[in-house]
Order: sequence, then C-alpha cells, then structure tokens
Amino acid sequence: TTFKDLGLSEHVLSTLTAMGFETPTPIQAGAIPLVMAGHDLIGLAQTGTGKTAAFGLPMIEKLMVDGKRPDPRNIRALILAPTRELVNQIAANLKEFVKKTPIKVAVVVGGASINKQSEQLARGVDILVATPGRLLDLVNRRAVTLTQARYLVLDEADQMLDLGFIHDLRKISKLVPKNRQTLLFSATMPKAIAELAGEYLSDPKRVEV
Ligand code: AMP
Repeated sequence: TTFKDLGLSEHVLSTLTAMGFETPTPIQAGAIPLVMAGHDLIGLAQTGTGKTAAFGLPMIEKLMVDGKRPDPRNIRALILAPTRELVNQIAANLKEFVKKTPIKVAVVVGGASINKQSEQLARGVDILVATPGRLLDLVNRRAVTLTQARYLVLDEADQMLDLGFIHDLRKISKLVPKNRQTLLFSATMPKAIAELAGEYLSDPKRVEV
C-alpha cells in the first residue's frame, strides 16, 4: 500500500514525501481509508505506530475539502489527549502536515498562559489539540466554542480514563455536535473504554495493530 492508494491528495502527498514518509504504517493503512469514508473508528494502537498521521491526514483532507475559514473562537476539529507532552507532540506533527495548507493548528494545555491561548483562539483555529481540563476552562470563559467541531479524536483514551478525565470527557461530549465523526485511539481495550466507545461513537469500525 502507498499513501496515494489511501486516497490522499497531491498536496498532502508532497508534504509526506518531503517529510520522508514513504510507506504507510499498518494503523495508517487500516485507518485512513475508513476515516476518509466518514466512519467512526476505534483504533487499538500504541504510541510510535504512526497514529497521529492515521487520524491527522484524513482529517486535514476533509477540512481542506470543506474549504471553510475558521470563525473566531469556533474550532472545526478537536483532538483530546491526556498529557501536555502528548498534546504538544501531536500538534508538532500536525503542524508539519498542514505546512502547505491554510489550516491552523493550536494547542491548549494547562501550565501555559490561558490569555495567550484565548488570543490565539480569537484569531481562528481549525484544529485544536487539548488536554480536557484546560479546554473546559477556556469554554467556561467563552474563549472557544465547540458547536462547529465536526471531528473529535480521543487519543490514548485508556490513559485519559486512568487520569480521571471521564467527567471532563462527558462535559465536552455534550458541547460538540451530535453530527460529527469520532475517532478513539487506545493502547488497551478494558471494559471502561468499550463503554466509552459505545457512548460516543456511532457504528464504529475497528482497526487493530
Ligand atoms: P506517532 O505514533 O504518531 O507518534 O508516530 C511516531 C513517529 O513515527 C513520529 O515521529 C512520526 O513522524 C513517524 N512516522 C509516522 N508515520 C510514518 C511513516 N509512514 N513513515 C515514516 N515515519 C512515520
């Protein structure tokens, strides 16, 4: 399988070539066509398997096709992850992928200036990568609105549950539209994750690596 076989545009393909991505990893080969086709997805994969590109590349393609400019404070895609480190790592990857596009990626994490994050959201953000707690702080300050978020990614969902983010996830899930695409990634699939998936995903496909 090549990235081209997965239905990615020339635009994104040329960026991948420049980054030295030659062949899709198994999670990418499995997930990208399903996400492009609009399915909700459960991805069972560890960090280091290439899952950021597995959800990031098809999401970027879709945002490009929608062709909208982000409204101030209204994000178009939300990625939730358990830790600052992971959020920053995901965002760094995505920023590489969107280099030749107008898509804007921003980060929202605790321990950094909330005013700066608010100002950035006011300028318009397409893809927001966030830890759940700081995201809710910004929602409560009306610095960000999730009502136009058509894509929701829960990354390292098992870790988010272990760290006690379930109540935050519940609140956030009520703020995003029902009519959205949801992707859940987890290294393990305990009962609590299966329940979470049952609650937030609609007829999901499953990819395991
Ligand atoms: P991730 O699991 O998404 O954190 O990715 C792990 C590392 O592998 C990151 O540094 C990516 O840039 C890199 N990577 C992901 N997919 C590919 C690929 N298809 N070819 C080469 N490197 C990749």
